[in-house]
Amino acid sequence: MANRKQVVVPKDRPFVIEVLQAQEEYSGKPVGLWIGHSRFQCPSFVLDYAGGSPARVVLSLYDRAQGHSYSSKHIGTLTFKVRAETLAERTGLTVAQVYRSQVILERDNRLYRRQPLSKASRTFLGNEVTLLLPQRTKQGQLVNNPISTAPKKPGLLSENGMRDYIVIPQDTLPAIKQVSRHGLAVLLAAMEAITKAGTGTESARITKPELRHISGLGLVAFRKGFRECLSQKLLAFSDNVLTVHDPHKRRPTQRWRNRRAELFHQRKKFAFDLNERTADDYRSLLTKVLNTDCSDIPEDDWHRIWPCPLCLNEQNGKITKRPTFAVHIEPSVAGFHCYLCGAKGKLIQLAAQVLGISTSDAIEYFRLLLNPPVQEPEEVAVQI
Ligand SMILES: [Zn+2]
Repeated sequence: MANRKQVVVPKDRPFVIEVLQAQEEYSGKPVGLWIGHSRFQCPSFVLDYAGGSPARVVLSLYDRAQGHSYSSKHIGTLTFKVRAETLAERTGLTVAQVYRSQVILERDNRLYRRQPLSKASRTFLGNEVTLLLPQRTKQGQLVNNPISTAPKKPGLLSENGMRDYIVIPQDTLPAIKQVSRHGLAVLLAAMEAITKAGTGTESARITKPELRHISGLGLVAFRKGFRECLSQKLLAFSDNVLTVHDPHKRRPTQRWRNRRAELFHQRKKFAFDLNERTADDYRSLLTKVLNTDCSDIPEDDWHRIWPCPLCLNEQNGKITKRPTFAVHIEPSVAGFHCYLCGAKGKLIQLAAQVLGISTSDAIEYFRLLLNPPVQEPEEVAVQI
């Protein structure tokens, strides 16, 4: 739209207040780790590898395992094919490093590999991997059991009865390709800390020595890794409050806002459709938004209104008395334009601009206007 000038909303208009209150309610960050991010659970034993190549392979394997498990049809042992070349590409390691890491992980009973051979050429087709999780038997012995699939479930490890895991957003994986092993050890320790803190946010109260202890690094290596994470803006730390950033944006995650908007959108699609609005609906909307009686506006043509609610018919300090602003309330048009300021668009966009809210909130405003909340109290509060 050509003109972005906004009119200050009189806050005492009841519906405006309602929308503003609703906005305030939604602006609170919901409790939960990495809301709006694709995420996976990685066993905390990844910390044993202090950010080395096996840690990168574990991360990549558990990320893939989550995908395989989610899309599986039945509950059963989770086994999937992995090409070393693919793992190398995803982790930034060389193929040789991937092979060595797999050998180490196999030695540590973290996974079990089968290496099928092609009958024709006898060449290497790829690994078939089964991931193993340490579990305690009734006799108190630690045994390593294969992971079971959990179809349509987002938490593979919790579904497998494991509690010792780190919640990791998927976009960490491309980000850590650039990070040194010390940096990775610190980042994983930080993610472990916020997961175990259980505060439902990406921040936790922790001291540097405690964080170093989790990372398993020596003092010098820890300092190096910690500095790297801070300078790369993967972490923030002040007054013993550690925050793990959105690895993509390098600042505290804001994705829960998108998710809110997303849910909001989906809900509206079913509850309130702009395509089903009538001319009368638009008459009510304009009456409210423009604070003038619009109940007699004809439906079949453009109708002039003075002043334009966006430019207030002011140009170079002078007020033009000529009505330059027109609306069309026939639902298939539902538009407005102003010859003076050049603003044009849909009526719902006009409402958004005049009220100083987003178009999506204006639609909600429109919905509330036509269906006052008393009739549908359960629709007003948005639960995440
Ligand atoms: Zn105008």
